[in-house]
Amino acid sequence: MPLPPGGAGRYNVPMTTSLAQKLLDWYEKHQRALPWRERPSPYATLISEYMLQQTRVETVIPYFERWMVRFPAFAALAAAEREEVLRLWEGLGYYRRAHNLHQAAQIVVEAYGGELPGDIQTLQGLPGIGRYTAAAIAAIGFNQPAVALDGNLRRVLARLMDLELPARSVEGERALLAFGQRNLPEGSSSSFNQSLMDLGSLVCIAKVPVCENCPLQSECLARAHGTIIERPVKMPRKPIPRVEAAAGVLKENGRVLIGRRPEGKLLGGLWEFPGGKPEPGEGLPAALRREWMEELGVAAEVGAKIGTYQHAYTHFHVTVYAFACELVSGEPAPLEHSELAWASVEELGNYPMGKVDRAISNTLQQK
Ligand code: SF4
Repeated sequence: MPLPPGGAGRYNVPMTTSLAQKLLDWYEKHQRALPWRERPSPYATLISEYMLQQTRVETVIPYFERWMVRFPAFAALAAAEREEVLRLWEGLGYYRRAHNLHQAAQIVVEAYGGELPGDIQTLQGLPGIGRYTAAAIAAIGFNQPAVALDGNLRRVLARLMDLELPARSVEGERALLAFGQRNLPEGSSSSFNQSLMDLGSLVCIAKVPVCENCPLQSECLARAHGTIIERPVKMPRKPIPRVEAAAGVLKENGRVLIGRRPEGKLLGGLWEFPGGKPEPGEGLPAALRREWMEELGVAAEVGAKIGTYQHAYTHFHVTVYAFACELVSGEPAPLEHSELAWASVEELGNYPMGKVDRAISNTLQQK
């Protein structure tokens, strides 16, 4: 294929039908065996797309498999208790997704008779479904002519086009979507999107693409121009802040105090050992005493450290120090939690928790 001249106009170059066909032929032979492809359905696509938001395929697979056994269809999920939904989701992170998914299932059952609608606009009306997820469900689950621009598609298309714009900028996304749309093979949107996802995952890898195994090597402009490693162009990254926090463990009569975080907040609906972040210049024990007064209305003595726990969220990294606490005065009240509970150490496993609180709970169970 002759190379187009430089400048903005070059992005108008369409993939040829033979190029889309090469991609589909490659997909026929090399597609990944993924559980949501075994018995494809709009429900399976929806569950996988919620789970795959911000999460790697390998991490999602066992969660998806357990989920489909317990909640094989919208009706089962819609009827489930929120606690069970969160417990099954525990460890996948970004718990807002579990709340949204549960709510979306209830809407599908109540408003659409248990049948997921296939058009992008209606899908975007469901909680937790943004532009990308709606396009992915419409394309993969319903074979609608949509382009689902995930990380893999972004990278592969940016390289095929040799896109000089940052791939996550508004203009960059527009160019990538237009390129993908112009080249969608009629009637094969589902396979087209999934083939690009698989090519990005198996061949057109971020650091070391295996171009010699790529079905599109003779059409790839970044390869022709020697710019593969520079594509996709990244947006400048903001540094990720690091924070410290303290958590308190209060044991009385063989039971431990935990609080349920209010919905709508980070880790909403999950259980935690109460605590929080120190104010500037405040030590961890002082912060914990203040937090317990604010959150629980009690004065507490902070004792020995139980452990140190680290976790990386997308927008910040946290180190949590857990301390044993003793009550000095007052009765714990849920001033900032939606409820409090006293659980034996053995029962803590029944309460859905985020990664750090589960790690504290595991330490207590090992003692
Ligand atoms: Fe990616 Fe290389 Fe294929 Fe281009 S030729 S799409 S860089 S794997």
